[in-house]
Amino acid sequence: MSTEVTASSVISAEQQTSVSVSAQKEPVQKVNLLGMSRAELEKFFEDMGEKKFRASQVMKWIHQFFVTDFAEMTNISGKLREKLEKICEIKAPEVVHKNYSKDGTRKWVFRVGDGEGSLVETVLIPAEHRSGLRRTLCISSQVGCALDCSFCSTGKQGFQRDLTQAEIIGQLWMANYSYMEDVPVLERERSVTNVVMMGMGEPLLNYDAVLNSMRTMLDDFAYGMSKRRVTLSTSGVVPKIDQMVKDIDVALAISLHAPNDELRNELVPINKKYPLEQLIAACQRYIAKDGNESSRKHVTIEYVMLDGVNDHPEHAQQMIKLLKNLPSKINLIPFNPFPHAPYGRSSRNRIISFQKTLSDAGFVCTIRQTRGDDIDAACGQLVGQVADRTRRAEQWKKKISEKNEILRSQG
Ligand code: SAH
Ligand code: SF4
Repeated sequence: MSTEVTASSVISAEQQTSVSVSAQKEPVQKVNLLGMSRAELEKFFEDMGEKKFRASQVMKWIHQFFVTDFAEMTNISGKLREKLEKICEIKAPEVVHKNYSKDGTRKWVFRVGDGEGSLVETVLIPAEHRSGLRRTLCISSQVGCALDCSFCSTGKQGFQRDLTQAEIIGQLWMANYSYMEDVPVLERERSVTNVVMMGMGEPLLNYDAVLNSMRTMLDDFAYGMSKRRVTLSTSGVVPKIDQMVKDIDVALAISLHAPNDELRNELVPINKKYPLEQLIAACQRYIAKDGNESSRKHVTIEYVMLDGVNDHPEHAQQMIKLLKNLPSKINLIPFNPFPHAPYGRSSRNRIISFQKTLSDAGFVCTIRQTRGDDIDAACGQLVGQVADRTRRAEQWKKKISEKNEILRSQG
């Protein structure tokens, strides 16, 4: 969407959407307020000559009442609303596919560009918990991924681009909105209770956008989520783990997947750059700060169970040694196969005995449940299949039109 703008004061907002304004009234792209953190929105309003507190007001409308029309922001003057209408928009990424499973799992595929593979997925998984119903949203941070882990279908797609803040927070916005679409604006509530940055992409390689998005997740004027309920998962970008210590307090998960460098170099190639010793030391630094007051009492260790590759008893023993000085909770993930994957899923028995070895050594070790199977919500799988389906749909369309052509020619 584009419009004509002459208010050159508006342009200086630091934002992912580029805005060009000139005295000649060239068409410009509207500024998308959806992705802005509070600090960015405050600067935006100040640059407009407005009061800073407008930022918190607008944030609440966007992220707590899920409003996209400025006309509905009733505590903002008509004049300012009109001004905003002209130069801004509140726009979530386009949903091209959504699926709500019988077990409560919900899944969205967003189009984030024109190319064939410009799709990202977001999955919401509900679970009963002693504190009530949990709705955990798995958010993507990049289109594809450059890190090429050998068991990951996202890695196989290669890297296309970083998601913008609007595209990252837009996933959370859309999931919340999906429960509130039919609810009157002032009665709307936030439904997603937990976020894991475990969708497509390596979040620490899109650091600024992910950081600002997580700030919005924690912000009381936006999603107000507890820092323990926002988890960033990384394959081990060590310098950025250290940067996070300075910038934000959220829970950290590490995609370990192998207990020694030789195997990890093969499965998670970024290990060649930041080997295990460095990674474990960075995790220790991450949880050292603030002690019990923070969400940093432990890190979560993710370990995908690959049949005959990393699931031997000796691997469990190596894990015990590796993690002995790192407060951690281990989550064993049954491998989700994808077409042409070079691995199989470890048997249930093998996973359970791996778990038992770690539990006997004193670790909290859980096995991730595979959920949403009826809608292919398994990690990192959907987009590939949608791409397949799209191609199939095209082939079908072609076949049908050829058939119609023959029928027509036969009169
Ligand atoms: N890039 C980040 C976050 C996205 S991947 C990271 O690697 O941590 C989220 C999790 O899904 C990671 O633990 C990843 O290793 C795991 N994963 C990737 N492909 C998988 C597959 N085919 N089966 C099971 N888990 C997988
Ligand atoms: Fe990228 Fe994570 Fe997949 Fe590795 S596991 S390729 S880091 S998305």
